[in-house]
Amino acid sequence: MYLKESKTIVIKIGSSLLIDEKKVIRQRWLDNFAKDINDLVKLKKNIIIVSSGAIALGCKKLNLNKKSIKLDKSQAVASIGQIELMNLFKRVFSKRKINLSQILITLEDTEQRRRAINAKRTLENLFELGYIPVVNENDSIATSEIKYGDNDRLASRVAQISSADCLVLLSDVDGLYSKNPKLFKNAKLISEIRNLDNSIEKIATKSISEYGTGGMRTKIEAAKICQNSGCLMVIANGLKSRPINNIIKNNKCTWFLPKVSKLHARKKWIISSISPKGDIIVDDGAIAALKKGKSLLAAGIKKVNGKFNKGDHIKILNKELTEFARGLASFSSDEIRIIQGKHSNKINELLGYISKSEVIHKDDMVEV
Ligand code: GLU
Repeated sequence: MYLKESKTIVIKIGSSLLIDEKKVIRQRWLDNFAKDINDLVKLKKNIIIVSSGAIALGCKKLNLNKKSIKLDKSQAVASIGQIELMNLFKRVFSKRKINLSQILITLEDTEQRRRAINAKRTLENLFELGYIPVVNENDSIATSEIKYGDNDRLASRVAQISSADCLVLLSDVDGLYSKNPKLFKNAKLISEIRNLDNSIEKIATKSISEYGTGGMRTKIEAAKICQNSGCLMVIANGLKSRPINNIIKNNKCTWFLPKVSKLHARKKWIISSISPKGDIIVDDGAIAALKKGKSLLAAGIKKVNGKFNKGDHIKILNKELTEFARGLASFSSDEIRIIQGKHSNKINELLGYISKSEVIHKDDMVEV
């Protein structure tokens, strides 16, 4: 039902769905997946596929073991495997006359607003041209410190940037269980989650983190981004032969329902930042002002952690160190260290140049 109502759908598939433990391509599975996609195309859905598999297919091509290769080599392997991945998709999808394109994304592309907007436009133009973008992380370029590393969170950020209605994470389990289903017979599949509270995070980290390529933890992180973006998310078993059809028919999966959000697209992007660069700890007075919708001023700042530049994503914490909001800094961390605790009319004198008076403007801030 949810899928049928969605216009723009992002579907993430992991490497283990494309290639089995013996490094054999799951050709039949991919053929069936293409049938599913064809059905969605007929329903005039906008589709984005986020596919892993560059490293796995590169390893297959070079006859290497994934676990034994070092990072720099794995980047070369990904570059070799990505073309294998796209060749595989193209062979299978062209039989059904489905047009595909490729987009390789880095974390920086999604974290910088201009680049994110540009990616959104490209995706929209591809929909108009009748092409399905196949997205992966640009593993050959991304450095380990600034990298998604898992396509669950990447897919959720792509869903948020493209204002998608639904993200489908095809995994090797049916969804999120109340307990580890391999250990407990009475484990129950949770069919719908409205509130991503601590209890859900505990289930995800304790009981079933060993499942799936990125594990449940990254899937829950992805769910948080989707919830804040007003996007549905579903974890479903991709190993079924017609995985999308199977969700529509049997609904044996876990749905994460979005929060009703009035946030503007830009604010959704701010709150879904993957890699805030630092924290600002503020006093109670500042929290009270922020609650009233005011901007953050230097006077209420007690401490700054991390090194960041003007425009970077940062967290605002209260004095108990609980995250209260996220925003884009109008000053660098070094500048904030000079002006913290001081009245705004002293800023120009303290810094020696004329600048803004808000450390984070209200339009650049979202309460979490
Ligand atoms: N981007 C990686 C690849 O294509 C996979 C990341 C993941 O497993 O989620 O090999």
